Amino acid sequence: MTDARTTELAQRLGAVRDRLAAAVDAAGRAPGDVELLVVTKFFPAGDVSRLIGLGEREFGESREPEASRKIAEIADEVTASGAVFDMIGTVQTKKARTVARWARSVHSVDRDRLVDALARSASAALEAGERSDPLGVFVQVSLDGDPERGGVVEEALPVLAEQVAGSAGLRLRGLMAITPLSGEPQHWMAELARIRAGFLERYPEADGLSAGMSGDMEVAVEYGSTCVRVGTAIMGSRPILSQ
Ligand SMILES: *Cc1c(COP(=O)(O)O)cnc(C)c1O
Repeated sequence: MTDARTTELAQRLGAVRDRLAAAVDAAGRAPGDVELLVVTKFFPAGDVSRLIGLGEREFGESREPEASRKIAEIADEVTASGAVFDMIGTVQTKKARTVARWARSVHSVDRDRLVDALARSASAALEAGERSDPLGVFVQVSLDGDPERGGVVEEALPVLAEQVAGSAGLRLRGLMAITPLSGEPQHWMAELARIRAGFLERYPEADGLSAGMSGDMEVAVEYGSTCVRVGTAIMGSRPILSQ
């Protein structure tokens, strides 16, 4: 598909890829160290299809059933290209079974009941042949303790991480955070890096760090992000009801 929208997405994607490459270079990190997760929430399956055509393979979605519907709409293309989708938004416990069918990883795990539901769902999905690998889990850390934005506070992280690490069907991938709106991104990213250093002593293999969005990806890369979740800078503005 090469229409005006494809051209627009190609330009924006190119600009974000350039920004990311410059940030990785400035941080003295290796190219390929940081995954670009293109956040396609609120945008139609046709856009995902265009992005697959432009070579993108890693996508982030934040809502059920929007994600399931979208992926089903372009199922053949998804299978043929090997595109993968991560769940980056809040998961309702009752939606765990559906999410376990399509998600490579869930980035927003922050409570024990959700871990249980995802473990049961991922095990069932593995058994049913609906997925071939364990469900990746990033434990979301709250940097400012604001319950609105989700995440566990630092003190509660060890217990939740241990639960994930001990759950069949799940694989602990690392930590995720959303930068609080108040204060300097640098301050919060440094906090996150400090928390992560302690976490890595206990779980050296769970070295993923999902941090950084359209507005703060450079800072996140500087502080060790391995996955930036970028929506607006590639897709354009979301409808007004989005968050
Ligand atoms: C929507 C969303 C993003 C993308 O944010 P942009 O500012 O549009 O790049 C990243 N992470 C999460 C958890 C989101 O919900």
